[in-house]
Amino acid sequence: MKLTIRLAAVLPLLALVSPAAHAEWRQRTEAIMGTRVYVELWADDPVKGDAAIEAVMAEMRRIDALMSHYKPQSQLSQINARAAQEPVQVDPELFDLIKLSIHYSEITEGAFDITYASVGHLYDYPNHIRPTEEQIKAALPAVNWRNLLFDPVHHTIRFGRPGMRIDLGGIGKGYAVDRGIAILQSRGFAHALVTAGGDSRIIGDRMGRPWLVGIRNPDDRDKVITRIPIVNSAMSTSGDYERYFDEGGVRYHHIIDPHTGHSASKVRSATVIAPTATRTDGLSKTAFVLGPEEAIRIYNGLPDVDAILVALDGRILYSKGLQPGATPTPDAAKPPGSDLPAPVAH
Ligand code: ADP
Ligand code: MG
Repeated sequence: MKLTIRLAAVLPLLALVSPAAHAEWRQRTEAIMGTRVYVELWADDPVKGDAAIEAVMAEMRRIDALMSHYKPQSQLSQINARAAQEPVQVDPELFDLIKLSIHYSEITEGAFDITYASVGHLYDYPNHIRPTEEQIKAALPAVNWRNLLFDPVHHTIRFGRPGMRIDLGGIGKGYAVDRGIAILQSRGFAHALVTAGGDSRIIGDRMGRPWLVGIRNPDDRDKVITRIPIVNSAMSTSGDYERYFDEGGVRYHHIIDPHTGHSASKVRSATVIAPTATRTDGLSKTAFVLGPEEAIRIYNGLPDVDAILVALDGRILYSKGLQPGATPTPDAAKPPGSDLPAPVAH
């Protein structure tokens, strides 16, 4: 009798939870865009979860085919091949991302500049190749985002100078992450992480807690200097330890100062937090070029942006929203619960 009563009480409860009985975290890693792409999501139905992950990966491959400067057939490579001679028509999507890159050049006072590639293409990090001073001097006049000419009616792009090149390595992964998140949202997923290289975006929380994203020690990939709780936000980290070689005591790495054509080395790493990964990617190179103080000034002027910088001497600098005791800025872009507490030094 007792048992019957118990069962009767339990059964409706079981019925209530059974649709979610197979719910689980699904995840996958792939190499796309020359980097590690990782998707993790909470799926009520694992089959639908895996299909959504595949859709995100397919979107990343599509974006890579359109925008990679390594692929000669991509529209971006077509721009580099022909835009010095004639206007080159591209898909509105690529046109808009290149225009948006100009916005990041403006707000970073020229630190972010996709025409850096005019000199950047002379570096080959895996093969320890770097340009001579003469080569840099010859290529540098072509570096200037102001010489990108746009026709918004015909979606054409033209170079205002010979020798110009562009590459979207500094914003394309952030954009791809945002596209991935949009796909997951349109399919109803409420808890997910999409990462491409140093660029990540998160929707929802993880089991009622924020996702904890580690910022690594620039000198030791196995150590973190701090962990940041993130909910409904994006985050990009740039580091001088990503693609580089050392020679004669100098580190030649993949973030280039558009003013000098040399590797930009005013910080060791920079992490930017903002609502979208396109935005965090577009902003994470700034401190390398301008230095920590100038970069913090720029970040503090952007109400939806926070940053954590590792200076050359190992000091950690925080934007004002992350200072101990800072009152969170009211911001419609940040949902409740996403305001970050003061970080704990490790
Ligand atoms: P990841 O490729 O891991 O996302 P970053 O976000 O730090 O790394 O971006 C570095 C890339 O940005 C470089 O590999 C290069 O393609 C591009 N880049 C380098 N210097 C600049 C610059 N001054 N402005 C815009 N893009 C740059
Ligand atoms: Mg990036």
